[in-house]
Parts: sequence; structure tokens; C-alpha cells
Amino acid sequence: MRLIMIAPPGAGKGTQAKRLSDRYDHPHVETGDIIRTAIKNETTAGQKAKKYVDKGKLVPDEVVVELIEERIERPDCRQGFILDGFPRTLPQAEALDEMMQKHDLSLDAVLHLDVSNEEVTERLLARGRDDDTPEAIEQRLEEYRN
Ligand code: AMP
Repeated sequence: MRLIMIAPPGAGKGTQAKRLSDRYDHPHVETGDIIRTAIKNETTAGQKAKKYVDKGKLVPDEVVVELIEERIERPDCRQGFILDGFPRTLPQAEALDEMMQKHDLSLDAVLHLDVSNEEVTERLLARGRDDDTPEAIEQRLEEYRN
């Protein structure tokens, strides 16, 4: 099964994606985590991504698309995947369409979690990750709405 999760930051999409991943035994492809790992490992993609993540801005499409394509082409994704945090822009959605066509695959569902700005802001401030500052949160919500 191939599923996409769409939700504002802090809605609990990662938690729900993990549960689905366990239930269906498909990898949980967590875009933010893949990007943070690339930054930590100082890969070329990670070095390009860092300044955007720190400010709560979206990482350029070509950087994210390459990371995701590399991930979902691995053998463990052959039976399906739970995509969390991608696509987040129209060009990313188009790139995903192309990837699916290239491998003759289709998506089974898109789950949209709808949570108010007030609620997610409260949840993010309580979580306290490096990019969970009030300024970066506001920026991420703005990026999400766009
Ligand atoms: P998240 O863990 O989903 O909250 O993502 C953390 C940060 O990673 C975001 O604020 C962006 O800087 C970056 N990011 C995650 N997913 C994407 C994406 N699909 N496109 C661009 N940037 C992303």
C-alpha cells in the first residue's frame, strides 16, 4: 500500500504514520528526519538544506526530491510505503507523479489531518525540537498554508 500523510507541522502526522507503518509493515518515510540525518552527516544535500531548516523554510525542491527518490527506490519500499512530509509543494507532487509512473506504481490513499494553528503551535512549543522556536513555527505554518 502506498499512502501519503498531509498535515500541518505538529499535528501528530509522524505518530500516526508510524502506527500505520507498524500495522502494514511498510517503511515510514519521514522527510524531515531524512533531511535532518543528511544535515547531521554533512552530506552535499545536508549542507544545502541546513540553512532552510534552521529558519523553518522549505528546503529547495530538487534537494528534497532527490533524497526521497533515493529512499523510495530502495528494495524495502517495493511493497509499499507511508510517505510523511512529502510532497509539500506542487513541483514535489509532480516529481512524485513522475516517480510513480516511472515504476508503474500508483498511490492508494492520501490522509489529511486537519488541526488548528493554535493547537499545533501549542504542541510544537511543548515538543521543543531545535527548529521549534516561535519564529520558525510561524514560518513553517505559513509555508504549510501556502
Ligand atoms: P518536519 O520534520 O516535517 O517538521 O520538517 C522539518 C523541516 O524539514 C521543515 O521545516 C523543512 O525545512 C524541511 N522539510 C521537511 N519536508 C520537506 C519537504 N517536503 N520540502 C521541503 N522541505 C521540507
